[in-house]
Amino acid sequence: MPKKIKKVGVLTSGGDSPGMNAAIRSVVRTCAYHNIECIGIYRGYQGMIEGDFKEMGPRSVNNIVNKGGTILKSARSLEFKTPEGRKQAHENLIKAGIDALVVIGGDGTFTGGLLFNNEFGFPVMGIPGTIDNDIFGTSHTLGYDTALNTVVDVIDKIRDTASSHNRLFFVEVMGRDAGHIALNAGIGAGAEEILIPEEDLGLERLLESLQKSKASGKSSSIVVIAEGDKIGKNVFELKDYVEANLPEYDVRVSVLGHMQRGGSPSCFDRVLASRLGVKAVESLLEGKSNYMVGLQNDKVALTPLEQAIKGKTEIDKELLRVSDIMST
Ligand code: ATP
Repeated sequence: MPKKIKKVGVLTSGGDSPGMNAAIRSVVRTCAYHNIECIGIYRGYQGMIEGDFKEMGPRSVNNIVNKGGTILKSARSLEFKTPEGRKQAHENLIKAGIDALVVIGGDGTFTGGLLFNNEFGFPVMGIPGTIDNDIFGTSHTLGYDTALNTVVDVIDKIRDTASSHNRLFFVEVMGRDAGHIALNAGIGAGAEEILIPEEDLGLERLLESLQKSKASGKSSSIVVIAEGDKIGKNVFELKDYVEANLPEYDVRVSVLGHMQRGGSPSCFDRVLASRLGVKAVESLLEGKSNYMVGLQNDKVALTPLEQAIKGKTEIDKELLRVSDIMST
């Protein structure tokens, strides 16, 4: 019989993403709803090692559902990767009477949580929070939808200037290993071409496509490029290559950077965060551990943490075809 859970700790770890605050709020209020205590752990696993804890009642999370970032702060903790660090963290949790954890973050955060469970038998539940949408077991991670909307909004603005000056813009978006943002925001913003880490479009094909687009009467173009695109050239090298081969083009580069991680979460991310927080706490109360809560076919579902860490997400290849057709 698992120990009855009376106090849940919650932390955010790794890169921040919009919707993390809404998830913290959901965890805190679900605990209050079930008459159990909730403790906020500051700065991810580093705060666990340092005992940086704060009791959180339902009113402590007023007015954060709409805020980007994370009120609990996030950190990358090297110390937690050592057995001594994790032992110290465990002692602090026991001292504070915390008997289960909800960890909000990416696969590194889940890896740390799983290891912690394996070493101390401590119940852990994960909530996927990262804008890259690269976690197996959920169709959407927290922050992804907001990031897509941010990127589309910015590309719309870039298009205004691109079309006024007949320019070609290369817009670099986040995604070192995953092209979900580039592919979806690219289609949403009407990009001419989309370069992603999963597919090698090839430089020739890029040139051909740009030539075709000019010949068809388009006066400006947007190419969306994920940070880790398969062609292997960075966005500035690509600009030089295209200008050398297609002198008729005046290419400008825009690297969107960290603005993609900020901002008020979209309604979708707020609702998702609320649903995942409820499921995470209620699953712990049912005696479950070592799962990630996620969204599958619009339903909240559990995936073993191990699978969430090891599994690979795939892009929807049909979207590449849709993008091709749209740039006709
Ligand atoms: P993002 O997707 O934004 O990078 P993440 O959760 O993958 O998020 P990481 O920096 O990889 O971010 O991991 C967050 C924290 O999890 C690390 O700083 C560390 O404290 C812990 N962690 C990661 N990997 C391990 C590991 N192998 N062992 C123990 N702890 C780990």
